[in-house]
Amino acid sequence: MVARVAQEWFAICGGCEVTILDIGEPLIELLEKINIVHMPVLMDHKLYGQTGEGTAMEIPEAEVGIITGGVRNEEHRHLAKEMRKKCKVLIAMGTCACSGGIPALGNLSLKDEILKKVYEESVTTDKGVAPSVDIPPLTDRVYAISEVVPVDVSLPGCPSTPEMVTEALTALLTGTAFALPTKSVCDDCPTIREKKAVSGLKRNLQAPEFTVGRPLKEMRCLMEQGILCLGPATRTGCGGSEGTPRCIRAYQPCEGCFGPISEKANPMVDMMGALSTVGLDPKNVADRAATFNRFSGAGRLRPLPKR
Ligand code: SF4
Ligand code: SF4
Ligand code: SF4
Repeated sequence: MVARVAQEWFAICGGCEVTILDIGEPLIELLEKINIVHMPVLMDHKLYGQTGEGTAMEIPEAEVGIITGGVRNEEHRHLAKEMRKKCKVLIAMGTCACSGGIPALGNLSLKDEILKKVYEESVTTDKGVAPSVDIPPLTDRVYAISEVVPVDVSLPGCPSTPEMVTEALTALLTGTAFALPTKSVCDDCPTIREKKAVSGLKRNLQAPEFTVGRPLKEMRCLMEQGILCLGPATRTGCGGSEGTPRCIRAYQPCEGCFGPISEKANPMVDMMGALSTVGLDPKNVADRAATFNRFSGAGRLRPLPKR
């Protein structure tokens, strides 16, 4: 059977769609088993019927639905419900869809504060008024898809890996099991750990010490070098077939894009514990709530109390 696939994008950057293209050769094999019936990035975006005859936004029926991006306006909310209604299995793809992603950092401010800042107070913009005609109203905050409708499969990552997307789609098409890893990025990190930091926390973006060309297993753990790394509080899986986490491969710290290790985990608590374990003071991390929940603010970040 050829499965129909419908995909919609909400509050996104487009990187998750690039991941679908990045699947590469296995995509050719997948395309023989699927029929893409709706995908705005690929085809003309018809939501009111093929000739505009519809009176409400509709998604065609499909076996598999994929949503990228979180819910940031009322149109997204409507389409999330429509996708749920029309698709037998619903996938939330990418950290924006799974837990709000970077757009959910906006949950630290009230909706009206954001509009005021952007349209009236930004130093690079002539003072204007927030648009209100012919555009969908913003929701009060950014929501993960699972906060609006039930989701069957979540594929975290900013973006998810092509391998993970292929594995999930293949599992759905063949009726086999698919599960996310339950370990942390540290568990797949080959760096040397001695359970103590050599210095205090360094400034953001300070380069780690390593010898160019030498294997990663000879590099000291970045956190123990005083570089904030969210590996201890982040779900692994970004390494794909290579195993070693993506950022670590580039000698960069993990920023947490795969989100918390489990739904119940609290990255703030996990990171405070991890920092203390190597003798670093969590109080020296600026903007802690946003830093530790950078990719998972949908249900976790709220406007800060006014000083
Ligand atoms: S998860 Fe990352 S790559 Fe995907 S849409 Fe969001 S910001 Fe873009
Ligand atoms: S803290 Fe970062 S560098 Fe250290 S082991 Fe974990 S992922 Fe690797
Ligand atoms: S190392 Fe961390 S931030 Fe980098 S891709 Fe993996 S989960 Fe995302």
